Amino acid sequence: MSSALLDPTHAAALDAADPLAAFRAEFLFPNGPNGQPVAYFCGNSLGLQPKATRAALDAELTNWAELAVEGHFHGTAPWMHSHGPLAEASAPVVGALPHEVVIMNGLSVNLHLLLVSFYRPAGARYKVLMEGGAFPSDQYAIETQARLHGLDPDDAIVELVPRPGEHTLRTEDIAVKIAELGDSLATVLLGGLNYYTGQVFDMAAITAAGHAVGATVGFDLAHAAGNVPLHLHDWDVDFACWCTYKYLNSGPGGIAGAYIHERFANRPDLLRLAGWWGQEPAERFQMKKGFRPTPGADGWLLSNSPVLLLAPLRASLDLVARAGGMATLRAKSEPLTAYLESLIRALNLPADQLEIITPADPAQRGCQLSVLVHQRGRELFDYLAARGVVADWREPNVIRLSPVPLYNSFEDVRRAGAAMHDFFAAG
Ligand SMILES: *Cc1c(COP(=O)(O)O)cnc(C)c1O
Repeated sequence: MSSALLDPTHAAALDAADPLAAFRAEFLFPNGPNGQPVAYFCGNSLGLQPKATRAALDAELTNWAELAVEGHFHGTAPWMHSHGPLAEASAPVVGALPHEVVIMNGLSVNLHLLLVSFYRPAGARYKVLMEGGAFPSDQYAIETQARLHGLDPDDAIVELVPRPGEHTLRTEDIAVKIAELGDSLATVLLGGLNYYTGQVFDMAAITAAGHAVGATVGFDLAHAAGNVPLHLHDWDVDFACWCTYKYLNSGPGGIAGAYIHERFANRPDLLRLAGWWGQEPAERFQMKKGFRPTPGADGWLLSNSPVLLLAPLRASLDLVARAGGMATLRAKSEPLTAYLESLIRALNLPADQLEIITPADPAQRGCQLSVLVHQRGRELFDYLAARGVVADWREPNVIRLSPVPLYNSFEDVRRAGAAMHDFFAAG
């Protein structure tokens, strides 16, 4: 391997020139087997804990202790209105207007709630287009939504698969499939960034293709939110949902987000599953019959907000904003991931031994690289772990590494590259 790339002074120079370098100190890193902080590349699964999280939680516990029920109306951030500011802070992360965003529930719950409104099979228009091998929760959600409508999932669900010999989908193939399905297509639902390959889809083009045949188009942004800049409103996307514990560092099982385009803001006729928190605020406490949804995404709220889940998200979104938002994070993310890519390529291994299945085009990927290791994959993964490099393993043979611009350094990436080099040099 080229020694220049692996030279610690090279990584140190890149870190010295990194305007976001100071944000690393805002996070808590676990220690690895050698007692030193790990090189953490698992932000695609669970983001690290910001140091501000504990204080944010503690402030709400204090409000509860000192105010009890009055905390709904008084205190640092009255609980009655606590979800509103979170939607405002989340909107720029996904490229939406504040009233197009609601922070609530878990991701899979939100996906179901949105499908109730936006997957409305009728007559010959009943098919759903999704990725083959989509994240299991998405597969099960669509499967059971089809059943909810009395449809056979095997008939209703159409899966996109890469061309033979390829690992990722081509936009033109997705568009052709959409056109082919035409009047039979009710909804397109894709992961905005595929969790396995790391591929980012051309959401604007796919949305336009779906709309051209009269289908609704939505995205699961679990791996995209907080990772790549998104422009849901401008892309004309109908609906989307995301979790916040991956790239938005809100903590395990953190509260999720949902987006609904503003053209549906004043559509009380749009079917949904309702709860009292989605009721017109003026009528919410009148306790009378008849659901009248709040305009905008808030009209999909069911329950009053889990304040202890909102507090950590508020703390982590503050960090994203202080860092300058998604464009600034992306400006570091591209070279950070490119550095990891060049270190892996410098291993000079044949494709039948190791290959990166994530697209090489930066526009088609976020921070994650998925490395398909045909031989000794599990051995390599365990070796990385023993060296304090935390990656993640996906059966049957993929190692995912996600350098996160908010807290990973170029030195972290160098450590991962050096460990891989040593593994293969040892034979
Ligand atoms: C992480 C992830 C989920 C997780 O769903 P939860 O409801 O948050 O448990 C769902 N879908 C995708 C694509 C994911 O990457």
